[in-house]
Amino acid sequence: MTDKKSGQKTKAEPRQSGNPVMDKIVSLCKRRGFIFPSSEIYGGLNGCWDYGPLGVDLLKNIKDQWWNAMTFREDVEGLDASILMHPRVWEASGHVENFTDPMVDCKECKARFRADQITGLACGSRAYKGRMAEKCQAEGKFTAPRRFNLMFKTFLGPVEESGSVVYLRPETAQGIFVNFLNVQVSSRQKVPFGIAQIGKAFRNEINTKNFLFRTREFEQMEMQFFVQPGQDEQWFGYWKEQRMEWFHALGLRKEKLRYHRHEADSLAHYAKDAFDIEYEFPFGWGEIEGIHNRTDFDLSRHEEFSGKTLTYYDDANKNRFRPYIIETSAGASRSFMAFLIDAYHEEEAPTADGKTETRTVMKFHPRLAPIKAAIFPLVNRDGMPEIARGIVTELRSHFRVFYDEGGAVGRRYRRQDEIGTPFCITVDSQTAADRTVTVRERDSMHQERVAIEGLVHYLRKGIEGA
Ligand code: ATP
Repeated sequence: MTDKKSGQKTKAEPRQSGNPVMDKIVSLCKRRGFIFPSSEIYGGLNGCWDYGPLGVDLLKNIKDQWWNAMTFREDVEGLDASILMHPRVWEASGHVENFTDPMVDCKECKARFRADQITGLACGSRAYKGRMAEKCQAEGKFTAPRRFNLMFKTFLGPVEESGSVVYLRPETAQGIFVNFLNVQVSSRQKVPFGIAQIGKAFRNEINTKNFLFRTREFEQMEMQFFVQPGQDEQWFGYWKEQRMEWFHALGLRKEKLRYHRHEADSLAHYAKDAFDIEYEFPFGWGEIEGIHNRTDFDLSRHEEFSGKTLTYYDDANKNRFRPYIIETSAGASRSFMAFLIDAYHEEEAPTADGKTETRTVMKFHPRLAPIKAAIFPLVNRDGMPEIARGIVTELRSHFRVFYDEGGAVGRRYRRQDEIGTPFCITVDSQTAADRTVTVRERDSMHQERVAIEGLVHYLRKGIEGA
């Protein structure tokens, strides 16, 4: 769809994906404030999404877990490089020449597709409603594939001329490579060491699809580890294991994760070896992180294009070399989606009157859950709201918590289950007498009495120790 006034290509993601689980998750995300379509009141902007109040906290918690796992190590430093970089960076990296996808047009319905990814896509014309792109292809209606560069271009300064073209970075990695010596010298790190960075990346994908899986603006969490040539294979194996373990430790089910090794003929031009970590989404297996042995390709290319030496002097062995790089490159947005999908459960739960009902529960790892605890007064009298408010004030300096006094307690539990709050704390008639409350754990629904004074310790144990 084209907006008549602005001429801007729009057309938001179809409301129904055709996958019932995905549809439920997308709807929950909108209803509860995890994810909204970008610029929704204008009909949305294809491939762009906004993180709502709960989404922004879930995403931040994922990024914090990654950042801590990386930079709490002695051998990894942090970096936040600018999104706009010198245009020669993208010539050196090979993006100007190689960062392309094959694009085809359908002569019949006028839609445009990425030639190698048309499965499951609908034909673009209203006149052909319900028809799939594969049919157009089978009937020979596609043009021959053309190479389309995925980098977004813009201009530096007020004059729009070829000399002022810059790119929105399509990956965060290059900011790390060009800062290799700045970081190494300023932090006095010795090889082997790594540089970690989280930041936005932009790719003008021909077709976006599957909610957050393939978007035009997304976030990456990348760590480039610089090693001595000859030790690269050992470090590659090490990081491959570490990264899989990180996803397991934050609760992704083991059977939903697997490695996919790139065969020699499908390796990227810079890679000596590459594994993807894949998650089984409701629409199939998809990459959430790539681990690559990039050899010294990047540093040697930047040497060549910048004319600056990017080598390391190993003082202990009196040896100068250009390090090899082991890259771990995870999508924060794609990981977000994997954590969302893995957490989603529908199960039978008992009601207060002894029956059962279906509850939707997001079983986030407590460290990732946007809200750590909800506090309820059992009824809105007898001093219970005041005590509950006091608990909120006390806990708020430690965790993100939520106060709710609306409706039956059972309904309040369900509302928290649906957004993955691991603990619900209820103030009842016993509280005024003995300063204890009930704490209900989300997954087991088990309840126990805990002293108000011990709540911070109790919750911290439940969140950190889980
Ligand atoms: P794909 O083959 O799916 O396009 P890629 O191999 O190009 O991915 P990389 O360049 O290795 O991906 O990027 C590293 C990570 O960045 C990916 O594992 C993914 O999690 C994330 N990523 C890449 N492209 C996108 C996108 N368009 N939308 C969301 N996340 C993305």
